[in-house]
Amino acid sequence: MLKRIKMVIVGTMATAMLCTNVYGYSNDFSHRSNVSFIEIIGNILGIGQTVETKDADHDFSMYDDIYYYEPENLSRYTKFSSKNPDIAPEDVIWLVNANLDRDFYTKSEKIKDTETMPLLVNKYNYLPSNYVPENLVYIEDDKQATAETAEAFKEMKENAEAEGIEINVVSAYRSIDYQKDLYKSYLKTDSKKVVDTYSARAGYSEHHTGRALDLASDDWDMDNFGDTEAGEWVRKNAWKYGFIVRYTEENKNITGYKSEPWHITYVGDEAAEIMHTKDIKSLEEYVEKYVKHKPLDYNNVNTETIEIENN
Ligand SMILES: [Zn+2]
Repeated sequence: MLKRIKMVIVGTMATAMLCTNVYGYSNDFSHRSNVSFIEIIGNILGIGQTVETKDADHDFSMYDDIYYYEPENLSRYTKFSSKNPDIAPEDVIWLVNANLDRDFYTKSEKIKDTETMPLLVNKYNYLPSNYVPENLVYIEDDKQATAETAEAFKEMKENAEAEGIEINVVSAYRSIDYQKDLYKSYLKTDSKKVVDTYSARAGYSEHHTGRALDLASDDWDMDNFGDTEAGEWVRKNAWKYGFIVRYTEENKNITGYKSEPWHITYVGDEAAEIMHTKDIKSLEEYVEKYVKHKPLDYNNVNTETIEIENN
């Protein structure tokens, strides 16, 4: 079966120079939603909060040729690097730009441009309380998503089905009030710190964008999705339809959420394909490197239509 998709051909990136990165670290994140990235990394490295901030080993003014360097963040780069000496400067810069040197939910900003693609909603960027996506359509039963999300999902579902894989939508668009009640209901059984690792506070939920979907296979068991054939299929193929698996084991320190193999986000063809091609593991990193800042050779990123054979 042939499926036509748009493929992004990414030119050589003279500026891409990730050597080591933060994803190599592992830790028990399940009770750590309110601790800062510094604490998490610090704990892993065994330095914690007791280490005094001192002059950085890296003079970050030397890195101003990195295209996503922001001069106004210089002192934060230095401080963050000093506390996290094992993180490569190239990573320090985008992490700090993304505010990951601050505790989650600290100095969060209201999103001004809600039409942008991809739309970054996380613990530092929240949606206006009166926000409702403009083009909501029904996706499955009584669930709603934006028209683009629904269309991309339909195509993905059909192609999965052709391979004998069943994918169902468990949850899609949620209003801010619904999310508020949901978050509150979790607080009955778990502490705020724990709830923050698996549920978003109202305004901070991707489900509020109408672009996020929670999936299940034929057993309708969302929690189990990552271990199913359908979960595996989505992990491998979602990018071809403009989706990403948003919360993974590898990016939990960036997103502040535990791995959620069932939660996919529509980011559009270009973002999904570049993230796939460049092995970019979080939407936060993508936004810093391809939206807020663009590589010098960004114009060499060409799109063309190719045919991919699905088995
Ligand atoms: Zn979700």
